[in-house]
Amino acid sequence: MRSRRQSYILHGYTLILLPKHSHASPTGYVKRARLVLETKLGRYIDEGYVVHHLDGDKANDTPDNLVELRDLEHRRMHASRDAITKARDYHGRFAVT
Ligand SMILES: [Zn+2]
Repeated sequence: MRSRRQSYILHGYTLILLPKHSHASPTGYVKRARLVLETKLGRYIDEGYVVHHLDGDKANDTPDNLVELRDLEHRRMHASRDAITKARDYHGRFAVT
């Protein structure tokens, strides 16, 4: 157990070792974004909700960059955002929004 790292990066997310958290993975890690937003809100993120990075940067876990969204709403939002990104790529534009 002592050999486990306190934190590491996986798929762009920073994970923190916190085995007692209700959303800890089987290996005992929680996304730092969740912990930061829960600290900001002063409560746990509800079931069925996820933490979204407003600027799209999964490494940017500053409180102002994080919001909780319903899982379904979140997936819809990413689907439309991705469609917009693809349209931009197709037309060769890479405007930052
Ligand atoms: Zn998101």
